[in-house]
Amino acid sequence: MFESIKAAVTARQAAERFGVEVKRSRMAICPFHDDRTPSLKLDQRYYCFGCGANGDAINFTARLFGISNYNAAQKLAEEFGIHSGSHTTENTQKKPAVPLRHLEQHCLFALVAYERLLRFWKKHYAPRSLGDPFHEKFVEACHRSAFIAHLIDDMSDADPWRRRQVVDLLTEDDQVHRLQEYVIRNQEEEQQDEKEEVRNERGAET
Ligand SMILES: [Zn+2]
Repeated sequence: MFESIKAAVTARQAAERFGVEVKRSRMAICPFHDDRTPSLKLDQRYYCFGCGANGDAINFTARLFGISNYNAAQKLAEEFGIHSGSHTTENTQKKPAVPLRHLEQHCLFALVAYERLLRFWKKHYAPRSLGDPFHEKFVEACHRSAFIAHLIDDMSDADPWRRRQVVDLLTEDDQVHRLQEYVIRNQEEEQQDEKEEVRNERGAET
């Protein structure tokens, strides 16, 4: 498996997939030391003129995520759609070219989950007639959904600067964690309510 991955994925491809921006003449800011100017050369293999880090795509991935070479090989196989024993690279473009760092992925998941919840609220708690008072969850959904959709849009943008803005916003005071907990708590509440509704309906029938 190691060999087929090394044959199919260059260090440069791996680096780009995982969010390292490659500048002119195949140079990038080195993620392995406090690099101010691009001193990492990316090609089939990588070499850093600043800290001396060097190796292949597997080794690069292992270092970047702090995982073993074996896990790194598996991660690459998954990312690039390589099946062990074969040299197929036809699925290389399976995933969108927008590279997502770990933190970005984390933020995006939280936003998408919240957006899904808001969409549910918008439908489920919509007033049934004009005279009905607004349910607070319906109000929250109306207020927030456009903004959340906008953030998700930015997170899907190819421009790393725009993604960075959202990540900064969400990681300030660990907001992303609170958002996740908020969504989970409310999802549980919804499920609880649903069960009660079913129970009440059954109670009404008998
Ligand atoms: Zn370096």
